[in-house]
Amino acid sequence: MAVRRGTRTAVLEAPRRLGVLERPLPPAGPEEVVVRIAATAICHTDLSIYTGEHPGVRYPVVMGHEATGVVDAVGAEVAGLRPGEAVIINPIISCGRCDACLRGAGNLCRSAGLFGREVEGSMSQYVNLAARYVHRLPAQLPLADATLIETLATVRHAQRRLGIAPGDSVVVLGQGTSGLLHARLAVLAGADPVIAVSRTRWKLEMAQGMGAHHAIAASVASAVGEVVRLTAGLGADVVIDTTGGAAATMAAIEMLRPGGRFAPYAVSQECCNGFTTFPIYYKEISIIGSRALTREDMEPSIELVACGKVDVSGFVSATYPLARAPDAFEEYERNPGKVLRIVIDSSAG
Ligand SMILES: [Zn+2]
Ligand SMILES: [Zn+2]
Repeated sequence: MAVRRGTRTAVLEAPRRLGVLERPLPPAGPEEVVVRIAATAICHTDLSIYTGEHPGVRYPVVMGHEATGVVDAVGAEVAGLRPGEAVIINPIISCGRCDACLRGAGNLCRSAGLFGREVEGSMSQYVNLAARYVHRLPAQLPLADATLIETLATVRHAQRRLGIAPGDSVVVLGQGTSGLLHARLAVLAGADPVIAVSRTRWKLEMAQGMGAHHAIAASVASAVGEVVRLTAGLGADVVIDTTGGAAATMAAIEMLRPGGRFAPYAVSQECCNGFTTFPIYYKEISIIGSRALTREDMEPSIELVACGKVDVSGFVSATYPLARAPDAFEEYERNPGKVLRIVIDSSAG
């Protein structure tokens, strides 16, 4: 008979009503692991769930999808994971049986969900989840910084679809967490120049630390002329938008060379007033969508951080213990442009 244990969990009962409760923790099912959560990073998705702006969310919700921890217990049929090992969670829940899953595109699963939205997430001391969503981390990685690997995997997924080649000129609009990681991966792919655009000086300095060749301190819409100048009048081969919205889409298409590729990476529901397909036809632009990540993006992203090619130190702006999760969200909502990631530390109680 398994000992029944408890777990402290932050539960969002309704928008902006976040409370921390004691709940029972079930033992690991046969194909499950119990992970003792160390760190959960909060991103814009969590903020929009918290404020009620994220469409289609059913409350109550246990948020948290960018999470690391330590294996606490494994089910009878789990192979390859042992208690005490450091792990990161792949939060993309997929059925494994539909046409998308059978093609290896679990991110496009017909009944896809997100751990921390459709399924209870990591803002808890412990979570139970299927072992296939858990990836081992090298022991030396700090677990708060390692939460960034989930975002890196999402960025890597988008860049795999873009097929950035050595010598491509790549513009990254916005230099929040995903913009900075896009700039870094483009540099590693041999893109030259990599041009970072942001209105925020300290973010542009971080982008240059990531290896970006040029930093444009301007709004997206007013950066078009400078991008054209920096690409010898040709326009960019690739534009990646991490800001979202209509103005960025129009500016991105304008700053592309004929035959260029556009990645609308940011999740946005804004209508593009005045948008026509004419420039897509005339410049033969490819618009390349990407959604979340697949299992295949996780291991290479872990390796990129472990070997130091992508330095994720410096992204965590503040850390709050689980008991103060509501304060973390209040701070994030007050200053969304001032932070890259706020981390909830579950080990601190
Ligand atoms: Zn996220
Ligand atoms: Zn599926």
